[in-house]
Amino acid sequence: MQKLRIGVIGAGAAGYFAAIHASSKHTEVTMLEKTSKTLAKVKISGGGRCNVTHHAPELSKLIKSYPRGGNFLKKVFRYFAIAETIDWFESRGVALKIEQDGRMFPVSDSSQSIINALVAEANKCNVNLLLNVAVHSIAKESNQFEVQTSKGKLSFDRLIICTGGNPKLSGFDFLEGLGHSIVEPIPSLFTFNTPHSPLKSLMGISVPDALVKLEGTKLSYHGPVLITHWGISGPAVLKLSAFGAEWLADVHYKANAHIRWGVDWTESELIMHLQAFKSKHPKKKIFSNPLVGLPQRLWMYLCQESEIMEMQLWENTSKKQFNKLVQNLFCYIVPIEGKTTFKEEFVTAGGVDLGQVHPESMESKSTKGLFFAGEVLNIDGITGGFNFQAAWSTGYLAGKNSQTL
Ligand SMILES: Cc1cc2nc3c(=O)[nH]c(=O)nc-3n(C[C@H](O)[C@H](O)[C@H](O)COP(=O)(O)OP(=O)(O)OC[C@H]3O[C@@H](n4cnc5c(N)ncnc54)[C@H](O)[C@@H]3O)c2cc1C
Repeated sequence: MQKLRIGVIGAGAAGYFAAIHASSKHTEVTMLEKTSKTLAKVKISGGGRCNVTHHAPELSKLIKSYPRGGNFLKKVFRYFAIAETIDWFESRGVALKIEQDGRMFPVSDSSQSIINALVAEANKCNVNLLLNVAVHSIAKESNQFEVQTSKGKLSFDRLIICTGGNPKLSGFDFLEGLGHSIVEPIPSLFTFNTPHSPLKSLMGISVPDALVKLEGTKLSYHGPVLITHWGISGPAVLKLSAFGAEWLADVHYKANAHIRWGVDWTESELIMHLQAFKSKHPKKKIFSNPLVGLPQRLWMYLCQESEIMEMQLWENTSKKQFNKLVQNLFCYIVPIEGKTTFKEEFVTAGGVDLGQVHPESMESKSTKGLFFAGEVLNIDGITGGFNFQAAWSTGYLAGKNSQTL
């Protein structure tokens, strides 16, 4: 019997996983990669350590880590999720470890361990790899996919598209012939530029848990906040940038962020706390005694912003100064004027519209035999291993389903 010819376009995380799982005794799998290198992003991921997945035992919490695609992935994760990922790598000799914040890495702390496991498995499965072959266009003629590449035409019975994200809509032109609509790509995971905020003078300071809110939206996230020489960064800001990606793109990255420097207080609790300190220590200098767990420099800065003098004692605070201090601690306003892409883990939001793909199989709803996996889909996660998890899970499902007769 003639083998089913399956083409996988793109040799990244999703492509490898799809190709491996598409392989069987009745299939012949060929992976096409436009560059001379495979798994390039895996190599540099997680600062060279590859944050391969995230320890998130509850599905309901896991899907909340995807600003786009969470509901779609809920169905995908029923077939292959975190436990299966851990098992897959560990059963191929790559032990994984969990860091305090839930991120998972190979024990070796080297992305090469992940690459070695994927390459060895693909070789074992006899996946053919064609490097320096860029796909220019695809057409379906009768029951075959005719793929125009930089090295000529190739034909396949089934096709899995794993070409990753692209910051430009034109990067999806090669899919035009397949009739799938593309959600316009926009950046996700970036830090906020605040060129006109005096806060920048505090660069290097980090606050372990602050709440950052986008004025004019219901979006707010808490976590560590880092003050940099160009603005504000840290997990709370990155999360906000991912969930607010569309809104921020619409307002051309000009908006106000509100920062609550300590998340454990309501406004009235904060007032009571400051008043209690004032009554107990009226002779203490305000500047010298940072409250609500803030670093000294940030506390002094917020006092200055509240027009409090350096030598001023608590007993001498005016009502106006006190109220201003409360306001600066509870809702410090930072004008955002632009963004800087987070170099560690950049992803694009946008891609193939999920409404046109079956989440149980990753097959196109309009073109039989056509499958998608990875970041080419309109799926993106926050930092922490969620993007690779989406690539493994969708790659697995696309591969398995592409080989059914
Ligand atoms: C610096 C960096 C660090 C990251 N670190 C992490 C991390 O630690 N954890 C995490 O979860 N996520 C991380 N990410 C995100 C993660 O790397 C991606 O989400 C993931 O690689 C997506 O996998 P993919 O296979 O869908 O796409 P890609 O890895 O982008 O692979 C797509 C492949 O398709 C090829 N291709 C594209 N178009 C064509 C064409 N027309 N013809 C032939 N081939 C084509 C490309 O050359 C590429 O090799 C990081 C991203 C970056 C940029």
